[in-house]
Amino acid sequence: MTVSSRRFRTTTALAGLTAAALAMTACGSGAQGGSGDKLKVVASTNVWASVAQAVGGDRIEVEALISDPATDPHSYESTPRDAAKVTDADLVVLNGGGYDEFVEQILAGKPKPVVEAFAGEHGEPAHPAEPAHPAEPAPPAEPAPGDGHGHPAPAPADEHGHPAPPPADGHGPPAPAPADGHAPADEHGHSEPAQPAPADEHGHAEPAPAEPAPAEGHGHEGHDHSVNEHVWYDLHLVHETAERIADELGKLQPADAQAFKDSAARFSDEVGGLEARTQQLAAAQQGKKVIVTEPVAHYLVEAAKLDDVTPPEFVKAIESESDPSAAAVAEIQNAVNSKQAAAVIYNPQTESPVTESVRRAAEQNQTPVVEMTELLPEGRTYVQWMGDQITALETALNRNP
Ligand SMILES: [Zn+2]
Repeated sequence: MTVSSRRFRTTTALAGLTAAALAMTACGSGAQGGSGDKLKVVASTNVWASVAQAVGGDRIEVEALISDPATDPHSYESTPRDAAKVTDADLVVLNGGGYDEFVEQILAGKPKPVVEAFAGEHGEPAHPAEPAHPAEPAPPAEPAPGDGHGHPAPAPADEHGHPAPPPADGHGPPAPAPADGHAPADEHGHSEPAQPAPADEHGHAEPAPAEPAPAEGHGHEGHDHSVNEHVWYDLHLVHETAERIADELGKLQPADAQAFKDSAARFSDEVGGLEARTQQLAAAQQGKKVIVTEPVAHYLVEAAKLDDVTPPEFVKAIESESDPSAAAVAEIQNAVNSKQAAAVIYNPQTESPVTESVRRAAEQNQTPVVEMTELLPEGRTYVQWMGDQITALETALNRNP
């Protein structure tokens, strides 16, 4: 599924423009490019719609397909109206990772500019427009210079202090397409070392992760996007997605390309502020245990260096949208009742009698409950909402020293 969206994206924006032009003609509107015409952006959820809006401002018209906070997006059933909106859009922004697969199904076979957040740094080629790598000559003995694709040059470290790993990952020219769908390196020149990166993007040394190294699908800072689709809780990925949205909007409306870039940069600064707050949270609360009724905020919990002690059997059942076994329910109840966690993170959008019983147990034990949701509450922007949630988490953890 991610493969097909990537294909749409690399089909180029031109094809999308043509399709949009045709669609508009068919609707009888005709006057594309005239003043007052706004690019139409359709996002699967109001979270991604808010990110797109932050980039496009009043130059675009954004619509979210799922925005009712009372619904569970995981079990959303799309309508023919959704299909019409997606088909009509100039740009489609989706989460990916199976979260909003109905959008990908609607898009199937329709060339259209798409930004899929989940694909992020690793699902898309870093430079889709450039010639394929196998065309490059392969000087085997000489030290290969950086080829401009972000491949590791033999320099010991890049400007971010990342160590350059040996090119043992199959990226040396001629490079076969990575079987795992990873782009060989992202735009910062990060490459994927065989070992977890020992330093973050600021060059700070981090302690060796306690968990085993993710086998594949690991993103920046070791995030493994293959295990969790709620990537809008990955703040770094969110601002990168905003920058990708700016690129696509700029291709569709070149006269505003710089304005889109500037807005994306402002948004990225704001999200950077949230990242800094998360780092402060980590510095103060690192290692505190939390229990989650659904791993919606996985990446935030990880960035705050909290210890998610939710029984794995319970998580597995919730993730597969099946009922947890009686044993798994007993296990999580026990964990809450024995006050193992400093806070319970509760997702009201995937509520069930079981998750409600976990919440009640937390309340009875004076364990703070922090709500983290799938969708934006009405009237909040992404940055406001995420800030609210970080504050709520901070407050809860401060209550339990
Ligand atoms: Zn979820």
